[in-house]
Parts: sequence; C-alpha cells; structure tokens
Amino acid sequence: MPDTSHEGERIFHGIAVSPGVCRGKILVLVDNRVDSIPRHTITDEDVPQQILRLEQAITETRRQLLAVQEKVSTGMGAKDATIFDAHLLVLEDPTLLDEVRLYVEKEKVNIDFAFAKVSEKYAKVLETIDDEYMRERAADVRDVTERLLQNLLGTFQELDLKHLKEPYIIVAHDLAPSRTALLDKKNVLGFVTDVGSKTSHTAIMARSLRIPAVVGLPNASTELRNGQYALLDGYHGHIVVNPTDQTLFEYGQLVRRQVSLEEKLRDTVDKPAVTLDGVRLTLSANIEQATDAEAVKASGAEGVGLFRTEYLFLNSETLPTEEEQYQAYRSAAAALKPAPVIIRTLDLGGDKFMSHLTVPSEMNPFLGWRAIRFCLQEKEIFRAQLRAILRASAEGNIKIMYPMISCLDELIQANALLDTYREELRREGVPFDDKLEVGAMIEIPSAALTADALAKRVQFFSIGTNDLIQYTLAVDRLNEKIAHLYEPTNPSILRLIKMTADAAHAAGIWVGVCGEMAGDPLMIPLLLGLGVDELSVTPQSVTQIKYLIRRVKMSEAREIAAAALQSESGTDILDRSQRLVRSVAPSLFEQ
Ligand code: PEP
Ligand code: MG
Repeated sequence: MPDTSHEGERIFHGIAVSPGVCRGKILVLVDNRVDSIPRHTITDEDVPQQILRLEQAITETRRQLLAVQEKVSTGMGAKDATIFDAHLLVLEDPTLLDEVRLYVEKEKVNIDFAFAKVSEKYAKVLETIDDEYMRERAADVRDVTERLLQNLLGTFQELDLKHLKEPYIIVAHDLAPSRTALLDKKNVLGFVTDVGSKTSHTAIMARSLRIPAVVGLPNASTELRNGQYALLDGYHGHIVVNPTDQTLFEYGQLVRRQVSLEEKLRDTVDKPAVTLDGVRLTLSANIEQATDAEAVKASGAEGVGLFRTEYLFLNSETLPTEEEQYQAYRSAAAALKPAPVIIRTLDLGGDKFMSHLTVPSEMNPFLGWRAIRFCLQEKEIFRAQLRAILRASAEGNIKIMYPMISCLDELIQANALLDTYREELRREGVPFDDKLEVGAMIEIPSAALTADALAKRVQFFSIGTNDLIQYTLAVDRLNEKIAHLYEPTNPSILRLIKMTADAAHAAGIWVGVCGEMAGDPLMIPLLLGLGVDELSVTPQSVTQIKYLIRRVKMSEAREIAAAALQSESGTDILDRSQRLVRSVAPSLFEQ
C-alpha cells in the first residue's frame, strides 16, 4: 500500500462496507495503543532528559485535567467532576512513576515506551482483581495514561469529537463503538479504518448513518495525513488521496448512475415484498436508535426487525435509566405503530464496550462475557431494560428478543426473569402488552442445532448471521486478515439456516434473518428458498432488497436452495445465486 500512484494521486484499497462516495479533508484519530509505541535504546546520559520529558508531560496532563474538571463542574455539576480527582491521583501515584523511572534507567529505553509498558501492566493487574472498584481504577489508569502518552508523544489531539469544526473523513486504526458514539455525526463524511470487516460495528454504524466506509485498509491511520484532500468510495472500497480531475469526473458519473438507480427503486417503496409467484415476505429494518424510526418509515420497511439497544448505552455517559430507556423504546414503537418493533436486549461485549461500565478485558471477548450471558448476571441492568421494554409495549407493537442464546437454560432463565418483571408491573398497576411476543436470536451453532427445543419457548426466531458465520467457521468477524474465510454461502451456514427454519415451522413459529446476509442481494434467493419468512436489513437497503424479491420466483429460490444444500462448495452456491440475481435484476449491478 498504496497500490497505485500517479501525479500525486494515491489510491488505497480496503474492504467496502458502507456504500456511497464522499469528498473532503481527512482527520486522523491518534492511536495510543501501547503496542504501537516504538522502542528506542538510549544511553546513560540520555536518562535525565527522558525523565524531564516525563515530568513536563505530567505537568501538562495535570493542567489539561484541571481545565476539563473545571469545565465539567460548571456544565454538569460538582459530582460529575469528581471523577477527575481519581484521574489526578493516578498522576501522583509514586509507585507507578518510580517504576517508570527505574524501567528507563535499567532497560535504557525511551520514556514513552517505558511509561506505556508500566502503566499497561498496572491497568492489567487492577483489571484482573474481582472487584468493581478496582476495575474502575484500571479504567482511570488507562484514561490518564492515554492522555499522558499523547502529551509525551506530542500528539495530543485537543479534539472535541462531539463538535467538529468542519466535515471530515475520519481515519483511525480502529473505531471503538464508544468512540463513534461520541462523534459529531453531522460533520462526519465517512470512515476509514486499518482493521475491521463488513460486520464490525464501525461498518454497521456507517451504514446506519448512511455514510461511506472502508475498513481493513492496512496502515491507513499511519499513511494518511490530517488535512489531506481525499475521495472515499464506499462502493468499491477505495480511498483516493489528491484525486485528479479525471478521477473526480469518473466518480461524478458513478454517483449519477447511483442516483438514477435509486429513482428506479423508489417506485417499490409502497409496494409489498412479494415474489413473482405470489409468496409474501416480511421486510423489516435494523435500527440503532429510536430516531431511526423516521428512516424506517421512509424506506418502506414493515417495522423494525432488530433494534440494537447497545447504542443507547454507548451514547450515554452513564447507564441509561429505566425511564430513559422506556422513552426511547416508546418513541420508536409509537412512531411505527401498528408496525412491529423488535427490541433486542443489550448485546454488550464482543467489540462493544462502554466507557462507564468497566468490564475486565478478556482473551476472547466474542466467546466471553457477552450479551445474554452478561445480562443474566448483571440482573439490575437487565431488570431496568426488561421493565422499560414491557412498559413501552403498552404504546405500540413491541416484541422482544434475546441475543447470543447458546443453550436452552439461558432462554429459560431469561424468560423466567421476564415473567418476574411482568408480575412486578402487574402488582404496580403499570400497563404493558400481555401478549408481547418473545424471540430468540439464533447466532450460535449450538442454538441452531437445538432450535427444536428453543422453538417451544418462543414465538419467533431471528437468525443473526453475522455471528452465526463467525462462530460456525471460527472466523473472527473483525479480523481483516481472515476476511476471505468469512463465507456466508458455506454449505455449513446454509444447513444451519435450513435447520433453524424447519424447527421454527415445525413448532408453528416464524423465522427471520437480521444479520448483514439479509441485506446482500446475492443471498436473497438462498434465504427465501431455505424458508426464511422475514428479512431485516438497514433502512437504505430495504428498497433494493424489495425490488429483487419482487423479481424472483419462490420456485426458483427453492430450487437454488435445494441445490445449495447438496453442494460441497460455497463458491458454486454463490455463483449460481449470483447468476439468478443478475438475470432478474441487472440494474442493481450497473455501477
Ligand atoms: C448478528 O450477529 O447477525 C446480529 C444481527 O447481531 P450483531 O451484528 O449486533 O452482533
Ligand atoms: Mg450478533
């Protein structure tokens, strides 16, 4: 990288994860990961100078913290400002600072490296202690050391992510959801990250914001510079720095073709999702926040198939209360009534963490304390959410579903808690929908394999293919190095989907797909043919998926699915489905 260069124009290639084209200035978010800090050897004579740098950085960090504390205390009150006391204390911790000095003297390394090493060791030790208070201290150490490191490296970005001065293409090594949540969205033109994949949360967030994004673009954050002018192509996964007039012209044409396709699709907005041979499907939309309800209405979707509630938690500086959650769920349900809104309970963990909830770091977060596993242990958090959802169900058509069900016992426990809170509300005389439907996400192979047992305890299934693929194929959904192995059409995935659909229908319940697979036109004949009743996709994909559904015959889809279930090759399956889709809806591919 870069792969091409001429006349100052440079083109970098990555994975296209959110469609669209934008142009503008680059803003690189600084990366403070400890393993990105270079180690240099120094001499004995250099030691005092390095220690002096540390002292200066401490003074500067203290000055900044006091200034932020002052701002917070005026804006939010003294209570919120006390958290900075803990941060200031870290800066005065003699054990930590002495150990850094000793490390420099003994190992003869640059102070930034020594500081990063020692402070990371401190944070890790604190984190492993099974005590909430200690874990919070670990988070304090991380926050302060990040700021201090930036000061040491001279890269401190006094950036108020919430109020960017002008529109930017944001470039970063990785964008944690807690960071994207902070961003001043109206000034974000697009995202570019070094790591990630189509189903990482940066990608999902970008699609929901309707902005182009390219991920898995190695070294973007170190090779691209602040202020460079670039064009980001979220259709093909390129970023073009210093684009020539010719490039700008070609992209202008591409955008025009796209606009004319969107116009063609607009005719479908108010029409039902029915195949050419008359089979009716439900087409819903995925949302991340209550205000997305407007986009859902405009898209022609028949409700919300997945409301990812994590973002309500990530977007807030403290845990959202039952009341705050109630307002959010109620407003989405009221806006879309009588269409259904399926609210997924909190799916924290994996790549979604919150700054205000200190969760110990894990070796395998996607296999760890995540989603329903977290909620079944953190009962107060779960209780507030379930009560909020139940209360909101009085004001619209709400359904609830649990993420990451891996065994029957988890489902039984979750349902028992839901019953307890129903009972609580009844006693309190608070109204809720007595007939509220409950569903389970099928996103772990164990759940698909035991779907017959799960189906007896729920009213619907929603298949989370993003996770189902990663867990079945043992391919980390975020790791761009193995993205080629992440194969939705792998025969194992299609067989698990079929098993789930058959188990659902045998028990008389419906089954949907809410993972990204449902929004990929090439997958549609397969999913329909495997027996899926509902598809839930991002609001901006609704029209093209509906356009396609209206052009295929269920009989053809069933034939393709039957052949796929006999096939040994994911590539053959994809080819066959692609041939069908291209023949019935060629305009979707004219770019
Ligand atoms: C999925 O796993 O397919 C899914 C819809 O959930 P998420 O992407 O939020 O994990
Ligand atoms: Mg999932």
